[in-house]
Amino acid sequence: MSDATTGVCLTVNGLSKRFGGFNALNDVDVDVQRGHIHAIIGPNGAGKTTLFNILSGTLTPDKGDIRFEGKRIDTLKSYRRAELGIARTFQNIRLFEHMTVLENVMVGEHAKAYASLWSVFRKTILQRPFAAAPEERRMRERAVELLDFFGLAGKRDADASDLAYGERRRLEIARALATDPRLLLLDEPAAGMNPQETEDLDQHITRIRARGVTIVLVEHDMNLIMGISDRITVLSFGEKIAEGLPSEIQSDLAVIEAYLGEDEIL
Ligand code: ADP
Ligand code: MG
Repeated sequence: MSDATTGVCLTVNGLSKRFGGFNALNDVDVDVQRGHIHAIIGPNGAGKTTLFNILSGTLTPDKGDIRFEGKRIDTLKSYRRAELGIARTFQNIRLFEHMTVLENVMVGEHAKAYASLWSVFRKTILQRPFAAAPEERRMRERAVELLDFFGLAGKRDADASDLAYGERRRLEIARALATDPRLLLLDEPAAGMNPQETEDLDQHITRIRARGVTIVLVEHDMNLIMGISDRITVLSFGEKIAEGLPSEIQSDLAVIEAYLGEDEIL
């Protein structure tokens, strides 16, 4: 049976990564179903961000393979994975601080439009120069739509650096969505948010999924995780120690033990 018929969006198989003598990930398997919000949780240092870095192509695994919509992607460069439809945000927000809010989202659109050298060639050499204008206008309209979706339209001309913390997190997600992904990787999107901002984020993530985007979510906020996840994978010291429905994870003894001494409460 092919992945297209089984509805698997992402398959991670036997993934391992060592840093020096340290196993950041050890033989990790994860299947993410299309249309799911799939959470990856685990104590600090469990390997969650390392997994994201490998999925997005900024780190190379020592072992294992990754399939996105049935295609091997673990040998592809980051930009090729973005072209195929994978986008991410970062645990430490990465914005273009001195560009406007609108420009930050448009950078995401350009990254998609000009991801390959061939498309740059086509756009700059083969098309008449003025042909770019309508496309630019479409990109701008789409960027404004995304800002509207995230409640940031009123701030479109502000510098990214002038936004409040929760707004910055939302802008980073808007920029990731501007690449029109089918898989979105969110690394601790609620980190540093107040309860109201977290509540809003919850709604946004649910609405992003409703647009047909599969979401893999690394998060420490257990209320958020337990409320919106379809499935949860738990990592501890680089190993997968549990996987299941939120209700199953909440009562899993190995998971509770892994969290002892941590601030998060299941
Ligand atoms: P998490 O996101 O679950 O908190 P990380 O994936 O960031 O964990 O880190 C897992 C472990 O790997 C940590 O012990 C971290 O110090 C280590 N680590 C992560 N990246 C590197 C790196 N580039 N070089 C060396 N060690 C790293
Ligand atoms: Mg992390």
